[in-house]
Amino acid sequence: MKRVEIAITGIVQGIGFRPFIYNLAKKNLIRGWVLNNEKGVFIDAESEDGNLDRFIHDIPKLAPPLARIESLDVRSLQPQGYTTFEIKKSEEAEDKFVLISPDVATCDQCLSELFSPQNFRYQYPFINCTLCGPRFTIIQDIPYDRHKTTMAPFRMCPVCQQEYGNPADRRFHAQPNACPACGPSLRLEDGKGEEVLGDPIEKTLNLLRKGFILAIKGLGGVHLACDAKNQNAVFTLRSRKFREDKPFAVMCRDIAEVKKYCEVDEEEEKVLSSVERPIVILRKKEESTVAHAVAPYQNTLGVMLPYSPLHHLLLNSPLKALVMTSGNVSDEPIAYKNEEASHRLRGIADYFLFHNREIHMRCDDSVTRIFERKPYILRRSRGYVPFPIKLPFPVEMILACGGELKNTFCLTRDKYAFVSHHIGDLENLETLTSFEEGIQHFKKLFYIEPKAVAYDLHPDYLSTQYALSIPDIPKIGVQHHHAHIVSGMVENGIEGDVIGVALDGTGFGLDGTIWGGEFAKANLRNFDRLAHLRKVPMPGGSMAIKEPWRMAMVYLLEAFGDEANHLSVDLIKRIDLQKRNILKRMIEKRINTPWTSSMGRLFDATASILSVRDQVHYEGQAAIELEMMADHEVKEEYPFLIKKDERPMVIDPIGVVRGVIRDLLEKISPSRISGKFHRSIAQLIIETCEAIRSEEDLNRVVLSGGVFQNITLLSFVTKGLRRLGFEVYHHHLVPTNDGGISLGQAVIAHMMLFG
Ligand SMILES: [Zn+2]
Ligand SMILES: [Zn+2]
Repeated sequence: MKRVEIAITGIVQGIGFRPFIYNLAKKNLIRGWVLNNEKGVFIDAESEDGNLDRFIHDIPKLAPPLARIESLDVRSLQPQGYTTFEIKKSEEAEDKFVLISPDVATCDQCLSELFSPQNFRYQYPFINCTLCGPRFTIIQDIPYDRHKTTMAPFRMCPVCQQEYGNPADRRFHAQPNACPACGPSLRLEDGKGEEVLGDPIEKTLNLLRKGFILAIKGLGGVHLACDAKNQNAVFTLRSRKFREDKPFAVMCRDIAEVKKYCEVDEEEEKVLSSVERPIVILRKKEESTVAHAVAPYQNTLGVMLPYSPLHHLLLNSPLKALVMTSGNVSDEPIAYKNEEASHRLRGIADYFLFHNREIHMRCDDSVTRIFERKPYILRRSRGYVPFPIKLPFPVEMILACGGELKNTFCLTRDKYAFVSHHIGDLENLETLTSFEEGIQHFKKLFYIEPKAVAYDLHPDYLSTQYALSIPDIPKIGVQHHHAHIVSGMVENGIEGDVIGVALDGTGFGLDGTIWGGEFAKANLRNFDRLAHLRKVPMPGGSMAIKEPWRMAMVYLLEAFGDEANHLSVDLIKRIDLQKRNILKRMIEKRINTPWTSSMGRLFDATASILSVRDQVHYEGQAAIELEMMADHEVKEEYPFLIKKDERPMVIDPIGVVRGVIRDLLEKISPSRISGKFHRSIAQLIIETCEAIRSEEDLNRVVLSGGVFQNITLLSFVTKGLRRLGFEVYHHHLVPTNDGGISLGQAVIAHMMLFG
């Protein structure tokens, strides 16, 4: 007979850990008790040696999928002679801070009940248990308890109550527990708000099959859905949503269905089926029968698997692939309340499938790619948030307000950084409100009262203005690219000096110009700009971002002077002389023409020179399409120049531009030229890193910034650097785009004020 106490820390509360321990204890004939305390889970266990050993061994091995065990300490005690095993009441502490679970995809056991005709929850769209279901999106306040969630209005029936109260039941303390007798229900409405009678799921499926567009309320918001194979329906959705060609995501019934449209490797399959259920960007198959309008001009498709019981019910039908895109008009935040959705989406959806479980926090679907067999997250939201990013050291409570596009904010405490869900582009009042409400909510959930606030140096960002308007708190402005690099450092757990390579479209520079092709000696406090892409004018400011032909002309003028107008390339033929002259005058007279060292703009320019696109409809579109056409087999490069005697060093890509034009004139295929362009930029990055290494004796390189969403470039650069012995770090937990900068801002602010 032996007795031990087991202290477990990490993410072990609110995710079904105690019932798991209870059942494991019963299985191994353990006597004693378990409780939650402020540190995690505490177990007092007594049994015969073999049983106890097996019990301890199995805890980390069989723990619920959401558990993250950080430590498990075992200490021997004098046997006590317990006769039962019980779950004791939690030790409540003042200012108790616990981690909160993200929303979790429906588990296998619930699924099997959902489709068992003899089960009383057969086809019930809100089935869940301690291992699955809504969490973050329904929590209104803490502690996480039913009456503080949007499940409060639903009074449990005796059966549900019995499950909820029984420690041996897999629905023990499952806060959203519900059944057809007592829980939420569906309601199908037409465009006038009139209820469509009959079985809502069946009716919905009929409507989808007929090509109608439906607004479907899910876990974190309302999706706009239509049959993914119906070209007309998809096209109608596009035009009503004012979304010209930004790709839509598709939800497929299962992996077998995904494989009909896309190449799926082992790692991608794993992430698609994970409890987080993100949208995974996959290579589209030639023979894909998904409507072309789902992802025009793309050789990839964003796919996800059903993650709520409602999705499973909808897709367990002849419709095995549905477009599921955020329920919003253009760039507004996703609609998440019934009334709001019927109002805002009236012109888009023909019918509305609602339910009466309220969403408290909206949360968009997450988006990821797989790079080097690991997730490479592009949007970290539903399924991941609000789990924190673990920091290498404890930090003060800081609020970091993030950037403008793809905004997230971040709140820190102890060794945790709570990076928010995807807020969106902070360009309108709706999004700003959602940003402010999100901050208040996170502060409350995690007992965080910030001691300082960090913001981007760009004076026009709404996030910056918000930060500056908070009274009585120290404020730290953080340079955009510094924040990118530090985000990359902390999520990889590294400190000290690194070579930071931050390449993106726009970031406010310390000299007031627009940066975006930056190489620095960076650490958690400092960002010493050692090299950058040559500065060029950006005629029209933000217009030059929307119209890549402007940047194409800028680079042609830089490369060829007035001769540019006589080049026999399509771009010159497409853009009439008058427009070109106005542009030239703007540049000469510096009218609304800031300077930029942005790498994003060089990609835009090249895309337009290759006639890929002169105007974009969403951020990064030209660069994305340029990447898609790149021939990866090309080995040649264009020449470029690194001016190593200048401080900071200047990287001059004009040779690349001249080379592109020369190849165009020689009728080399655009796909070869794009491949060669990608090789050249990769080589330019690698050689700049080498130049810095030879002076600074730094061997670690952190790659960050939106340009590294380009997997072709990322992979060329990573391989090239490693070949030369560099240690290469890139993102995998937070996005490389501006969705990741709030994390870096928070840590930099901590270091500057408290570090
Ligand atoms: Zn379940
Ligand atoms: Zn019930």
